[in-house]
Parts: sequence; C-alpha cells; structure tokens
Amino acid sequence: MSALFQNYARRPIAIESGKGTVVYDTVGKKYLDFTSGIAVCSLGHANPKLAEAIKQQSEKLWHISNLFESPMQEKLAQTLVENTHLSHAFFCNSGAEANEAAIKLARKHTGKHHIIVFEQSFHGRTFGAMSATGQDKVRNGFGPLVSQFTTLPFNDVAALENAIDDSVAAIMLELIQGEGGVNAVTEEFAQAIQTICDEKGILLIVDEVQTGIGRTGTRFAYEQTVLKPHIVSMAKGLGGGFPIGGILGVAELFDTFNAGTHGTTFGGNPLAVAVAQTVVDIVFEPAFLQNVQQLSAYFVEQLQTHLPSTFSVQGKGLMLGIYCGGEDVAPFVPKLDEAGLLTVSAGPKVIRLLPPLTVTKDEIDEAVAILKNTLSVNFV
Ligand code: PLP
Repeated sequence: MSALFQNYARRPIAIESGKGTVVYDTVGKKYLDFTSGIAVCSLGHANPKLAEAIKQQSEKLWHISNLFESPMQEKLAQTLVENTHLSHAFFCNSGAEANEAAIKLARKHTGKHHIIVFEQSFHGRTFGAMSATGQDKVRNGFGPLVSQFTTLPFNDVAALENAIDDSVAAIMLELIQGEGGVNAVTEEFAQAIQTICDEKGILLIVDEVQTGIGRTGTRFAYEQTVLKPHIVSMAKGLGGGFPIGGILGVAELFDTFNAGTHGTTFGGNPLAVAVAQTVVDIVFEPAFLQNVQQLSAYFVEQLQTHLPSTFSVQGKGLMLGIYCGGEDVAPFVPKLDEAGLLTVSAGPKVIRLLPPLTVTKDEIDEAVAILKNTLSVNFV
C-alpha cells in the first residue's frame, strides 16, 4: 500500500526526465508533454537558461527571510510592473496563496467582504481560494466555507448586474477558465465588468495563475480584453517549474498591505526569484510572444483541419481546449497517453492542450497526428 494519501487520481506513468517538450518515463517511453505540468514549464523541461540561473543562485544564497531587504525581489517586481499598469508586487509560493493574498488585500482595502465569483471557476484549494471556486466538487466535504462569496453564472451580464450592491468589495475571475473547461470571457461580459467596477468603485481581481506569463500569447490575458484589473494573481508559468506565486496591485492599494499585514516565510525565495526573473526576461520579449501567437494560430488551424467537424477548438495562445462534440473525454486522455501525447482534461468535455511556449511546429504536427488518429478512431 502506498505511503502517500491517494488525493490525486494519478495516471500509471512515472516521468523521470525531460528536455524541451519531450519527457521520458521510467521505462524509457517517450512522450510529447502537452501539459507542461499544467501550464507551469512554459520554457520546456530542463531549460538550460533556467538550469544555469538556479545553479548560479544555489551557489550564492538559498534562502533569506523577508525580514531583510531583497534586491532580487525588487528587480522582479520592477520588471513585472514595468510591463503592466500595476504598481506593486507581493511574492508567495503558489496560485492558491496568490489568490488568498488578493482576497485579503481586496477585503482590507475596501473594508467590505463580499466578493463576486463565477461558476466553473478554479482559484485553488486553501479555504479562501476554495470558497471562491465555483465548483461543488472542489468545495464539498470541508464544512463551512469562508462566507460572502457569491457565485454567479459565467458570462451572464444580467445576473452580474442584478447581484451588484454596495456590499460588493470585488469581482474575481479567470479570463479563460482553465480547470472549468477552457471557457473564455466574452467581450460583452468583460465590458460589463469594467463598467460596473468603474461606476461602483468595485475592485477587479483577475486570476492569471494559469493564463499569465505568456500562456495566452500576451504577457497577461487581460491585455487582450478591455479589463484593467486592480489586482492580478499569478503563479504556474512564473517559475517555469520552480514554485513561486504572487500578486500585482495598482498604486492605490500600496498602503493596505503595510508591515505585518500579510506575509510568508518562503515567498520570494532567492532560488524562486532567480528562476522567475529569467522566465519573465525571456517571455516578455515581444519576439517571444509573437512566436507564441504564430504557433497558436498554426496549432488551431491544424486542429481544425484534422479533427472531426463536430469538434471545436477553444482558448487562446497555447492554452487550448478541444471540445469533442459533447462527448465525455475522460476515456480518451489515457489513450492519448498510450499514443505518446500527454494532455489534461478541463471539465468533463474538453481536452486541454498546454504545450511549453517553446514548442516547435514539428512537435505540434506530431501532436495533431496523434490527436487525429486517437480521437477520430474513437469518435467515428
Ligand atoms: N487559479 C487558477 C486559475 C488555477 O488554474 C490554479 C491551479 O490550477 C490555481 C489558481 C491554484 O494554483 P495552485 O495549485 O498553485 O495553488
């Protein structure tokens, strides 16, 4: 019997090593990794620049408390804010923690506690983040949740307008729901949110844990919408495989997180920051992001050409989902594994494709061929 809690439905594959988009299991079988550790290893496995960054840092300083100044965190924060309309950063270790920080910041700043969230969202597994998550399967069984989260249907303008009153501190959402099915916010809904936030002085929290740091073809996904969030949470791709999370906030929030209000021992750890700095320096280069957009366009076109016409492709950048004409996709993910393509489902009906942002066209071709063979056979 395993000495591990069985809280993950693990697949019977043990990955031992990887290079770029390719990984190998313990019996030497090769796979194309179109999960990237669920949108984490955005620069591919064993990226030499990230390996060098962590090697150099590991020979200098592994950890120092946030009791002391951190020029490295200052630099990473500066890089992030220079690339956004946001002014300040706080670093932590994961997406859930980033969302906890966002929720705490919004509540403390406004003095209000009510936060609007959406069905099928996913914000993490800690109590606050779980309470913000619009999926019963994530929330059930843990007793009373953190109160004052109202869950509304996603992309429903009328429901949102009806729910707004003076008690609302913030609206919190993902711009493409990742775990919930690769569902993108509509332009109409984004416009309604921005109007409500502007008119009512409500804070906008955008969870970019999965969509951020180049995943959707821009630095952050909100850049492709009319939205100007007050708080952005991030994690996953920020560390390229090393755990780090964080939030960015607008200038008016600066005084709210003052000394002693929030913190974490490991947040902004030197090893994590050394890697994250290397990641953002690479990913935020316009040519890099342009290449992601070109790869995305090519990938979508190939999928549309080769998959059955009842299928549709959702998502943006290299965060794509295949909706298989309403079929349940759970049986097909293991078949794709067997054929050498690692994917991850998003809700019951969508196969999610999250290759490293460094994926090549040849690898996309190989993945599309596997998808075509595996899915068409099963769906004909
Ligand atoms: N927010 C979003 C949008 C996510 O996709 C996830 C993880 O899948 C999280 C938050 C939670 O992040 P973590 O698992 O690092 O706590």
